[in-house]
Amino acid sequence: MTTQVAVIGAGVAGLNAARLLSASGVSVEVFEARERLGGRVLTVDGSAATSDDGYDLGASWFWPRVQPAIAELVDVLGIEAFAQNSTGDVVFERMSREPAGRYRGLPQEPESMRLRGGSAALVRALADRVPADRINLGATVTGLELTPGGVRLQVQDGSGTRSVDAQYILAALPPRLLAATMTFSPAIPAATAALWRGTPTWMASQAKFCALYETAFWRDAGLSGTAQSMVGPMLEIHDATTASGSAALFGFLGVGPVERVAIGEEALTDACVAQLARLFGPDATNPTATLFKDWAADPLTATADDPTSTGHPSHREPWVEGDWADRLVLAGSETSTREAGYLAGAAEASARAAATVRRRLTEGETA
Ligand SMILES: Cc1cc2nc3c(=O)[nH]c(=O)nc-3n(C[C@H](O)[C@H](O)[C@H](O)COP(=O)(O)OP(=O)(O)OC[C@H]3O[C@@H](n4cnc5c(N)ncnc54)[C@H](O)[C@@H]3O)c2cc1C
Repeated sequence: MTTQVAVIGAGVAGLNAARLLSASGVSVEVFEARERLGGRVLTVDGSAATSDDGYDLGASWFWPRVQPAIAELVDVLGIEAFAQNSTGDVVFERMSREPAGRYRGLPQEPESMRLRGGSAALVRALADRVPADRINLGATVTGLELTPGGVRLQVQDGSGTRSVDAQYILAALPPRLLAATMTFSPAIPAATAALWRGTPTWMASQAKFCALYETAFWRDAGLSGTAQSMVGPMLEIHDATTASGSAALFGFLGVGPVERVAIGEEALTDACVAQLARLFGPDATNPTATLFKDWAADPLTATADDPTSTGHPSHREPWVEGDWADRLVLAGSETSTREAGYLAGAAEASARAAATVRRRLTEGETA
């Protein structure tokens, strides 16, 4: 049977689109290359296993006051949010030959919010609203071919390669990744392919480090857990303590993707722990666990272009031209008109893409 809409990618955008289409009676089938849901949302426990109450190695914040799309989605799904801890002093490390300074923290504006359980709570709530048998994990779409009635997908999974027919494709992955990893028959117009390749995937060049502790000892010392450093290896550090009280600090690495590979995870981990001890005192020396995620080394997020071509994607239309314009709709965060690259962008772009496909299905409208 031909499914009406094949959704490629089960990150926030793909799952939100699948939720909205399923709710309006459209048959959807989601194909996700990873063995897990969430894409750039990754919440794990101390042993790095995906968790319902853990630490975010991908997206962790949203800003409801300035991002209505994600505020509404969190509200509709009934997920509890809490403010990023900013109570207490901040630490600033200017140079290696002088001790870090301590300064009065300012209230955040706009306030950064987190989700109870971690950002995976959003992914779980979305997936719960899509029929479970319509989500295929470990299923990589490798090629798309236009057919008289729609599109034929080549899907690679544990049992080999199979063909799936769909009327429409909703591609919920970064445009740059789509250009780098998918084959199209007929080929995508050169201008469209260039637009996709030239669209940076937000945060694809970044790496996060997280250290878990028995207690949030920095709070007892009047520190918020926020620190900035011009020494590194982390440039920016924040409190990652969960809503249920498990204490942690996380930071974004200032070491570039190529250097990270050369230095290696073990040496980077040692350097990050040493930095936390410099900034927050000797209690930081012995974390109960450490976590590290290099997104630039993840082929389902980053391409060879991402280490050198970063930044915020700017919205450009049309995302698809030529033969494919009627059958293929882009839905990933990078294609958002308002919040490209953010969770809010994933919410906005996927809702817009789902509405476009729905209109085409019901009214026979074309691009
Ligand atoms: C370190 C980091 C920190 C971030 N912090 C924040 C933050 O604090 N706040 C915020 O708003 N945003 C943040 N972001 C950005 C946020 O994570 C993204 O905007 C959002 O998750 C994008 O969702 P998406 O569904 O559009 O794409 P993705 O999450 O990238 O999902 C795409 C999915 O497609 C799958 N896929 C790829 N190729 C194929 C294929 N061929 N076949 C099948 N499946 C495929 C992938 O496996 C993936 O699951 C951060 C990102 C990172 C990496």
